[in-house]
Amino acid sequence: MSSNNTIFAVGTEGFIFGLKNQPQLNGSMGKIIPCGRPERIGVLLESGRKIAVKQVNIPVVLKNIPGKGKGLVATRTFQTEDTIFQEDPFLRGPLHLETPGFDEWRPFLKNLCDKKYEKLCRLSGGVSTKTELGIRRKFGNRDAYNSAEEFEKMNKIIRIFEVNCFNAALGREIYFACSHLNHSCIPNAVREQPNGKFTIDAVGTINPGDEVCLSYEAKLFLQPRAMRQWNLQQGCWGFECCCDFCKQGAGPFNGQEVYYELMQEIRSGNGDVERMNALNEKFKQWLAENYPYPYGDYILEDLGWGIKGAILGLV
Ligand SMILES: [Zn+2]
Repeated sequence: MSSNNTIFAVGTEGFIFGLKNQPQLNGSMGKIIPCGRPERIGVLLESGRKIAVKQVNIPVVLKNIPGKGKGLVATRTFQTEDTIFQEDPFLRGPLHLETPGFDEWRPFLKNLCDKKYEKLCRLSGGVSTKTELGIRRKFGNRDAYNSAEEFEKMNKIIRIFEVNCFNAALGREIYFACSHLNHSCIPNAVREQPNGKFTIDAVGTINPGDEVCLSYEAKLFLQPRAMRQWNLQQGCWGFECCCDFCKQGAGPFNGQEVYYELMQEIRSGNGDVERMNALNEKFKQWLAENYPYPYGDYILEDLGWGIKGAILGLV
Protein backbone atom coordinates (compact mmCIF):
# COMPACT_ATOMS: atom_id res chain seq x y z
CA MET A 1 0.00 0.00 0.00
CA SER A 2 1.33 3.39 -0.94
CA SER A 3 0.17 6.70 0.40
CA ASN A 4 -1.55 9.10 -1.97
CA ASN A 5 1.56 11.29 -1.93
CA THR A 6 3.56 8.48 -3.52
CA ILE A 7 0.84 7.51 -5.97
CA PHE A 8 0.36 11.05 -7.23
CA ALA A 9 4.03 12.08 -6.93
CA VAL A 10 5.07 14.86 -9.29
CA GLY A 11 6.48 13.35 -12.50
CA THR A 12 4.31 10.22 -12.33
CA GLU A 13 2.40 9.39 -15.51
CA GLY A 14 -1.31 8.74 -15.19
CA PHE A 15 -4.38 8.08 -17.31
CA ILE A 16 -7.37 10.38 -17.21
CA PHE A 17 -10.89 8.94 -17.25
CA GLY A 18 -14.42 9.93 -16.30
CA LEU A 19 -14.26 13.62 -17.24
CA LYS A 20 -17.82 14.71 -17.99
CA ASN A 21 -17.14 18.25 -19.19
CA GLN A 22 -14.30 17.34 -21.52
CA PRO A 23 -14.98 13.72 -22.53
CA GLN A 24 -12.53 14.02 -25.43
CA LEU A 25 -9.72 14.02 -22.86
CA ASN A 26 -10.74 10.67 -21.38
CA GLY A 27 -8.08 8.06 -22.03
CA SER A 28 -5.31 10.64 -22.37
CA MET A 29 -2.05 10.21 -20.63
CA GLY A 30 -0.31 12.96 -18.73
CA LYS A 31 2.45 13.76 -16.29
CA ILE A 32 1.53 14.89 -12.80
CA ILE A 33 2.68 18.45 -12.07
CA PRO A 34 2.37 20.66 -8.98
CA CYS A 35 -1.09 22.14 -8.59
CA GLY A 36 -2.09 25.02 -6.35
CA ARG A 37 -5.76 24.11 -6.28
CA PRO A 38 -6.98 22.12 -3.30
CA GLU A 39 -8.34 18.62 -3.95
CA ARG A 40 -7.04 18.72 -7.50
CA ILE A 41 -4.18 17.06 -9.35
CA GLY A 42 -2.27 19.02 -11.96
CA VAL A 43 -1.63 17.15 -15.22
CA LEU A 44 0.56 18.10 -18.16
CA LEU A 45 -1.04 16.41 -21.14
CA GLU A 46 0.97 15.08 -24.08
CA SER A 47 -0.46 17.90 -26.17
CA GLY A 48 1.35 20.35 -23.88
CA ARG A 49 -1.89 21.53 -22.29
CA LYS A 50 -2.09 21.77 -18.49
CA ILE A 51 -5.26 20.82 -16.66
CA ALA A 52 -6.36 20.26 -13.05
CA VAL A 53 -8.55 17.22 -12.36
CA LYS A 54 -10.02 15.50 -9.32
CA GLN A 55 -8.10 12.48 -7.96
CA VAL A 56 -11.04 10.32 -8.96
CA ASN A 57 -10.34 11.16 -12.62
CA ILE A 58 -6.95 9.46 -12.49
CA PRO A 59 -7.94 5.89 -11.53
CA VAL A 60 -4.58 4.43 -12.58
CA VAL A 61 -0.98 5.59 -12.82
CA LEU A 62 1.98 4.05 -14.59
CA LYS A 63 4.61 2.60 -12.23
CA ASN A 64 7.64 0.35 -12.49
CA ILE A 65 6.64 -3.15 -11.48
CA PRO A 66 9.53 -5.41 -10.42
CA GLY A 67 10.16 -8.08 -13.03
CA LYS A 68 7.52 -6.76 -15.43
CA GLY A 69 8.59 -3.32 -16.61
CA LYS A 70 5.80 -0.77 -16.39
CA GLY A 71 2.28 -1.51 -15.23
CA LEU A 72 -0.88 0.24 -14.09
CA VAL A 73 -1.38 0.83 -10.39
CA ALA A 74 -4.72 1.75 -8.78
CA THR A 75 -4.94 5.14 -7.10
CA ARG A 76 -7.96 4.29 -4.97
CA THR A 77 -9.94 1.32 -3.68
CA PHE A 78 -12.07 -0.68 -6.08
CA GLN A 79 -14.43 -3.49 -5.08
CA THR A 80 -15.75 -6.35 -7.22
CA GLU A 81 -17.79 -5.05 -10.18
CA ASP A 82 -16.52 -1.48 -9.76
CA THR A 83 -15.47 -0.01 -13.08
CA ILE A 84 -11.83 1.05 -13.03
CA PHE A 85 -11.98 2.74 -16.40
CA GLN A 86 -13.93 2.73 -19.64
CA GLU A 87 -11.95 3.31 -22.78
CA ASP A 88 -12.55 4.01 -26.47
CA PRO A 89 -10.39 2.25 -29.04
CA PHE A 90 -7.15 4.01 -29.88
CA LEU A 91 -6.77 2.23 -33.22
CA ARG A 92 -8.78 -0.29 -35.19
CA GLY A 93 -7.05 -2.64 -37.59
CA PRO A 94 -8.65 -4.99 -40.14
CA LEU A 95 -10.98 -7.77 -39.06
CA HIS A 96 -9.38 -10.90 -37.75
CA LEU A 97 -9.11 -13.28 -40.67
CA GLU A 98 -7.55 -16.65 -40.77
CA THR A 99 -4.70 -15.51 -42.95
CA PRO A 100 -4.49 -11.73 -42.68
CA GLY A 101 -1.70 -10.43 -44.83
CA PHE A 102 -0.34 -7.13 -46.00
CA ASP A 103 -3.23 -6.56 -48.43
CA GLU A 104 -5.74 -6.44 -45.55
CA TRP A 105 -3.51 -4.00 -43.69
CA ARG A 106 -2.73 -1.64 -46.59
CA PRO A 107 -5.74 0.72 -46.03
CA PHE A 108 -4.96 0.92 -42.31
CA LEU A 109 -1.35 1.76 -42.98
CA LYS A 110 -2.34 4.43 -45.48
CA ASN A 111 -4.62 6.16 -42.95
CA LEU A 112 -2.26 5.93 -39.99
CA CYS A 113 -0.89 9.39 -39.18
CA ASP A 114 2.67 9.84 -37.87
CA LYS A 115 1.44 10.95 -34.45
CA LYS A 116 -0.62 7.81 -33.91
CA TYR A 117 2.15 5.62 -35.32
CA GLU A 118 4.65 7.09 -32.85
CA LYS A 119 2.21 6.54 -29.99
CA LEU A 120 1.55 2.98 -31.13
CA CYS A 121 5.29 2.31 -31.18
CA ARG A 122 5.42 2.99 -27.43
CA LEU A 123 3.53 -0.25 -26.83
CA SER A 124 5.29 -3.58 -26.51
CA GLY A 125 5.76 -5.77 -29.55
CA GLY A 126 7.41 -8.65 -27.68
CA VAL A 127 6.00 -11.71 -29.43
CA SER A 128 6.79 -15.37 -28.80
CA THR A 129 9.13 -17.29 -31.12
CA LYS A 130 6.14 -19.09 -32.63
CA THR A 131 4.34 -15.82 -33.41
CA GLU A 132 7.57 -14.33 -34.73
CA LEU A 133 7.92 -17.14 -37.24
CA GLY A 134 4.31 -16.74 -38.37
CA ILE A 135 4.80 -13.01 -38.86
CA ARG A 136 7.94 -13.55 -40.91
CA ARG A 137 6.07 -15.98 -43.13
CA LYS A 138 3.18 -13.59 -43.76
CA PHE A 139 4.83 -10.18 -43.65
CA GLY A 140 8.48 -10.83 -44.30
CA ASN A 141 8.46 -10.63 -48.08
CA ARG A 142 10.03 -7.25 -48.83
CA ASP A 143 8.85 -7.43 -52.50
CA ALA A 144 5.21 -7.00 -51.43
CA TYR A 145 5.89 -3.49 -50.18
CA ASN A 146 6.27 -0.20 -52.02
CA SER A 147 9.18 1.03 -49.91
CA ALA A 148 11.59 0.00 -47.20
CA GLU A 149 9.79 2.39 -44.88
CA GLU A 150 6.45 0.70 -45.51
CA PHE A 151 8.02 -2.70 -44.90
CA GLU A 152 9.53 -1.58 -41.62
CA LYS A 153 6.30 0.11 -40.46
CA MET A 154 4.13 -2.92 -41.22
CA ASN A 155 6.50 -5.28 -39.46
CA LYS A 156 6.52 -3.11 -36.38
CA ILE A 157 2.75 -2.59 -36.34
CA ILE A 158 1.87 -6.24 -36.77
CA ARG A 159 3.99 -7.28 -33.76
CA ILE A 160 2.41 -4.59 -31.59
CA PHE A 161 -1.08 -5.64 -32.71
CA GLU A 162 -0.33 -9.32 -32.06
CA VAL A 163 0.31 -8.71 -28.36
CA ASN A 164 -2.04 -5.80 -27.70
CA CYS A 165 -5.21 -6.11 -29.78
CA PHE A 166 -8.64 -7.46 -28.98
CA ASN A 167 -10.73 -9.04 -31.70
CA ALA A 168 -13.96 -7.08 -31.98
CA ALA A 169 -16.86 -7.12 -34.41
CA LEU A 170 -15.51 -4.15 -36.37
CA GLY A 171 -11.88 -5.20 -36.41
CA ARG A 172 -8.83 -5.74 -34.25
CA GLU A 173 -8.84 -2.97 -31.68
CA ILE A 174 -6.10 -1.48 -29.55
CA TYR A 175 -6.92 0.33 -26.33
CA PHE A 176 -3.99 2.45 -25.25
CA ALA A 177 -4.41 2.51 -21.46
CA CYS A 178 -5.52 -1.11 -21.40
CA SER A 179 -2.36 -2.11 -23.27
CA HIS A 180 -0.39 -1.11 -20.19
CA LEU A 181 -2.17 -3.69 -18.03
CA ASN A 182 0.09 -6.62 -17.23
CA HIS A 183 -0.97 -10.23 -17.03
CA SER A 184 -1.72 -12.27 -13.93
CA CYS A 185 -2.97 -15.87 -13.82
CA ILE A 186 -5.14 -14.73 -10.87
CA PRO A 187 -6.20 -11.32 -12.16
CA ASN A 188 -7.90 -8.67 -10.05
CA ALA A 189 -9.63 -7.15 -13.08
CA VAL A 190 -11.56 -8.33 -16.11
CA ARG A 191 -12.50 -6.84 -19.44
CA GLU A 192 -16.22 -6.38 -20.01
CA GLN A 193 -18.22 -4.85 -22.81
CA PRO A 194 -21.57 -3.76 -21.42
CA ASN A 195 -23.48 -1.89 -24.16
CA GLY A 196 -20.49 -2.26 -26.43
CA LYS A 197 -18.34 -0.05 -24.21
CA PHE A 198 -14.91 -1.45 -23.43
CA THR A 199 -14.66 -1.53 -19.64
CA ILE A 200 -12.10 -2.72 -17.12
CA ASP A 201 -13.88 -3.95 -13.97
CA ALA A 202 -12.48 -5.08 -10.64
CA VAL A 203 -12.85 -8.66 -9.40
CA GLY A 204 -12.07 -8.65 -5.71
CA THR A 205 -10.75 -5.74 -3.68
CA ILE A 206 -8.06 -3.59 -5.24
CA ASN A 207 -6.29 -1.24 -2.84
CA PRO A 208 -4.49 2.00 -3.66
CA GLY A 209 -1.00 1.03 -4.81
CA ASP A 210 -2.04 -2.44 -6.05
CA GLU A 211 -1.16 -3.31 -9.60
CA VAL A 212 -4.24 -3.88 -11.78
CA CYS A 213 -3.87 -7.05 -13.87
CA LEU A 214 -5.89 -8.94 -16.47
CA SER A 215 -5.53 -12.57 -17.49
CA TYR A 216 -4.31 -12.44 -21.09
CA GLU A 217 -5.86 -15.81 -21.72
CA ALA A 218 -9.23 -16.61 -20.25
CA LYS A 219 -9.32 -19.34 -17.62
CA LEU A 220 -5.57 -19.81 -17.67
CA PHE A 221 -5.72 -20.64 -13.96
CA LEU A 222 -7.41 -23.93 -14.83
CA GLN A 223 -4.07 -25.12 -16.12
CA PRO A 224 -1.11 -26.29 -14.03
CA ARG A 225 1.78 -23.85 -13.64
CA ALA A 226 4.07 -25.41 -16.26
CA MET A 227 1.33 -25.30 -18.89
CA ARG A 228 0.47 -21.70 -18.06
CA GLN A 229 4.10 -20.72 -18.40
CA TRP A 230 4.38 -22.54 -21.70
CA ASN A 231 1.23 -20.82 -23.04
CA LEU A 232 2.44 -17.36 -22.09
CA GLN A 233 5.93 -17.89 -23.46
CA GLN A 234 5.13 -19.88 -26.56
CA GLY A 235 1.50 -19.14 -27.40
CA CYS A 236 1.53 -15.51 -28.51
CA TRP A 237 3.42 -13.54 -25.92
CA GLY A 238 7.00 -14.15 -25.04
CA PHE A 239 7.29 -13.58 -21.32
CA GLU A 240 7.84 -15.58 -18.18
CA CYS A 241 4.91 -15.07 -15.84
CA CYS A 242 5.90 -13.93 -12.37
CA CYS A 243 2.40 -13.34 -10.99
CA ASP A 244 1.64 -14.25 -7.36
CA PHE A 245 0.02 -17.51 -8.44
CA CYS A 246 3.06 -18.59 -10.46
CA LYS A 247 5.43 -17.51 -7.69
CA GLN A 248 3.58 -19.86 -5.33
CA GLY A 249 4.62 -22.66 -7.65
CA ALA A 250 0.97 -23.71 -7.71
CA GLY A 251 0.64 -27.48 -7.50
CA PRO A 252 -0.13 -30.04 -10.18
CA PHE A 253 -3.92 -29.79 -9.82
CA ASN A 254 -5.79 -29.09 -12.96
CA GLY A 255 -9.45 -28.18 -13.10
CA GLN A 256 -9.74 -28.40 -16.85
CA GLU A 257 -11.60 -31.72 -16.82
CA VAL A 258 -14.27 -30.43 -14.43
CA TYR A 259 -14.61 -27.25 -16.41
CA TYR A 260 -14.72 -28.88 -19.83
CA GLU A 261 -17.27 -31.45 -18.69
CA LEU A 262 -19.64 -28.60 -17.87
CA MET A 263 -18.78 -26.64 -21.02
CA GLN A 264 -19.44 -29.70 -23.13
CA GLU A 265 -22.84 -30.18 -21.54
CA ILE A 266 -23.72 -26.50 -22.08
CA ARG A 267 -22.64 -26.61 -25.72
CA SER A 268 -24.32 -29.96 -26.43
CA GLY A 269 -27.65 -28.21 -26.79
CA ASN A 270 -29.34 -30.97 -24.74
CA GLY A 271 -30.66 -28.40 -22.29
CA ASP A 272 -30.38 -30.95 -19.47
CA VAL A 273 -30.80 -28.48 -16.59
CA GLU A 274 -30.27 -31.08 -13.88
CA ARG A 275 -27.01 -32.32 -15.31
CA MET A 276 -25.73 -28.81 -16.02
CA ASN A 277 -26.49 -27.70 -12.48
CA ALA A 278 -24.84 -30.81 -11.04
CA LEU A 279 -21.68 -30.20 -13.09
CA ASN A 280 -21.75 -26.53 -12.11
CA GLU A 281 -21.85 -27.55 -8.45
CA LYS A 282 -18.89 -29.88 -9.04
CA PHE A 283 -16.91 -27.05 -10.61
CA LYS A 284 -17.91 -24.68 -7.80
CA GLN A 285 -16.58 -27.18 -5.28
CA TRP A 286 -13.35 -27.58 -7.24
CA LEU A 287 -12.93 -23.81 -7.22
CA ALA A 288 -13.55 -23.56 -3.49
CA GLU A 289 -11.00 -26.26 -2.75
CA ASN A 290 -8.26 -25.29 -5.16
CA TYR A 291 -8.77 -21.77 -6.15
CA PRO A 292 -10.23 -19.49 -3.49
CA TYR A 293 -9.76 -16.25 -5.44
CA PRO A 294 -12.43 -13.73 -6.48
CA TYR A 295 -11.73 -14.36 -10.18
CA GLY A 296 -13.30 -17.82 -9.68
CA ASP A 297 -16.64 -16.18 -8.85
CA TYR A 298 -16.46 -14.28 -12.09
CA ILE A 299 -15.95 -17.52 -14.01
CA LEU A 300 -18.88 -19.10 -12.16
CA GLU A 301 -21.09 -16.16 -13.05
CA ASP A 302 -20.02 -16.52 -16.66
CA LEU A 303 -20.91 -20.21 -16.59
CA GLY A 304 -24.25 -19.33 -15.00
CA TRP A 305 -25.03 -17.22 -18.07
CA GLY A 306 -23.94 -20.12 -20.26
CA ILE A 307 -26.39 -22.44 -18.50
CA LYS A 308 -29.22 -19.89 -18.81
CA GLY A 309 -28.43 -19.53 -22.51
CA ALA A 310 -28.46 -23.32 -22.97
CA ILE A 311 -31.86 -23.53 -21.26
CA LEU A 312 -33.21 -20.86 -23.60
CA GLY A 313 -31.75 -22.73 -26.55
CA LEU A 314 -29.34 -19.90 -27.40
CA VAL A 315 -26.15 -21.94 -27.13
ZN1 LIG B 1 1.15 -16.48 -13.66
